[in-house]
Amino acid sequence: MSLNTDLADLFAQFAAIMEIKGESPFKAIAFSKVSRILKDMTFDIRKVCEEGKIGEIEGIGKSSCAIIEEFVRTGRSTDFDEVAASVPAGLLPLLDIPGLGPKTIALVWKQRGVTNLEELVKAIDSGALAGLKGIGAKKVESIKQGIALRSQASQRLGIGEAMPIAHGLVERLRQHKDVAHAEIAGSLRRKRETIGDVDLICALSPAGSGPAVSAAFVQFPEVQRVLGQGPTKASVLTAGGLQVDVRIVPAENFGAALLYFTGSKDHNVKLRGRAQDAGLTLNEWGLYRVSEYDKAAKKTAEAPPVKPVASRTETDVYKALGLAYVAPELREGRGEVEAAVAGTLPTLIEEADIRGDLHSHTTASDGSATIEEMAEAAMARGYKYLAITDHSKSQVIANGLTAERLLKHAAAIRKVSDRLRGITLLAGCEVDILADGHLDFEDAVLAELDIVIASPHIALKQDADKATDRIVRAIENRYVSVIGHPTGRLINRRAGLPLHFERVFKAAAQTGTALEINAGYPRLDLNDVQARGALDAGCWLSINTDAHATDQLGSIGWGIDVARRAWASAARVVNCLSEEKLLEFIRKKRSE
Ligand SMILES: [Zn+2]
Ligand SMILES: [Zn+2]
Repeated sequence: MSLNTDLADLFAQFAAIMEIKGESPFKAIAFSKVSRILKDMTFDIRKVCEEGKIGEIEGIGKSSCAIIEEFVRTGRSTDFDEVAASVPAGLLPLLDIPGLGPKTIALVWKQRGVTNLEELVKAIDSGALAGLKGIGAKKVESIKQGIALRSQASQRLGIGEAMPIAHGLVERLRQHKDVAHAEIAGSLRRKRETIGDVDLICALSPAGSGPAVSAAFVQFPEVQRVLGQGPTKASVLTAGGLQVDVRIVPAENFGAALLYFTGSKDHNVKLRGRAQDAGLTLNEWGLYRVSEYDKAAKKTAEAPPVKPVASRTETDVYKALGLAYVAPELREGRGEVEAAVAGTLPTLIEEADIRGDLHSHTTASDGSATIEEMAEAAMARGYKYLAITDHSKSQVIANGLTAERLLKHAAAIRKVSDRLRGITLLAGCEVDILADGHLDFEDAVLAELDIVIASPHIALKQDADKATDRIVRAIENRYVSVIGHPTGRLINRRAGLPLHFERVFKAAAQTGTALEINAGYPRLDLNDVQARGALDAGCWLSINTDAHATDQLGSIGWGIDVARRAWASAARVVNCLSEEKLLEFIRKKRSE
């Protein structure tokens, strides 16, 4: 489906360039609509083209069809290339800066001659943007923040981008005849939300050759540039500029290498400390007795010539250190080694524990599937319940529902639910938390629903006091069962509300309001540290995908990753409850 994404990006850029140029606004609107259609499409555009059915898709006009067909055939669009060439090339990357839209870019270009990022930074620093209509001090400040976010983002890639690339490479390694097994290591294995580079560890089969594996690795199709290559390691850049390092070790040292290169540094320091206390030493090759190790050569380029106490698997090493196995997501030096000693590590939540999704959208607002289609997709995942929570009226761009439409929609949801066996649909709503904490619907309307999620979508630059008052106020509404994406942040793109979390957690725990880990990438909101804070404060969590299309229900795994990093067990997540218990949870708050 990456062709769909590529085309969606092309149309979005097309629309933006036309807006920058200030020509044919209707075409710009049409193109951005095509971009959205392509993004939400659940079928492969190439197939549609090949079947000659592209003209049948609603909302894609003639000129867009021609562009799509050419792109499918040749991988480019002459129309786009022509339009792109008519504005300075340095303006296009500016579109990626959060808070900087085509209108502003057009202004700084036409009025101040800015043609690239460097000139924009200079113009901001020298105050040259002063006096531009619509660009006040506040706007300049937000552009500045956007540039800072962007430069951070360019150094660290989101897990959602990095994981598929790493998976592809590790799968190829596993297929090599000289490889016994291969795993992703590093922060990616720990499921951190952003990563600097990818580490892969691969164990040789008994007669396997390191140089052969290394040589094959640098030839993989994802590889753009080779940074280094030797008999036991190789380092490359992939097409997207992601650095990937592979280390090739004998199978008997695999566990120790995987442990060492998975990190984190803090976790490894604790493990080494524990080894030392026991007269042992731990390195990337294995766990050794100090007395024997010190006599042997201390070259780290190859395995030391003494027999390790443990090295083949991670479990072996932990066991030899007197510890239970520590899941990679916990290895952050946040108390997990102490818990492993005490035997108090949590039983972490797994994807199979999820019994339903409490946050999803349909064509009634800005989703791309009907009630039935979403229900069937949820059933196919083995879910027992699905809450349909379309947007409320303030979300005009998202086709938010008026109270009247919402109640009709709820009736339609219940009708489908009655007809289906094996799954219950909850008629709900994702009601906007307005800037002052009021909700977008009266209580009398919310009372008609089975479940209410309240989420912030607008005014995400409030100060901490205001933002906290706002969210706490929403929590205090008896009809609100879940706070959706509580901060509104987007990884690498938007910082979100700077909440005083202790106050939010306290209110949520007291009222029995679940806080969401929004699993939709790039939200992942709450993040790992916040979610752990919520658990420590006694809050319930809810892990939801916020699916706007049937296949997006599958993104629950990103949320599970965050929850595991937060030490969450299934017992603390409301959508791991049985339907009966979940409804009881909702009722309890409403009756208090
Ligand atoms: Zn939302
Ligand atoms: Zn939503």
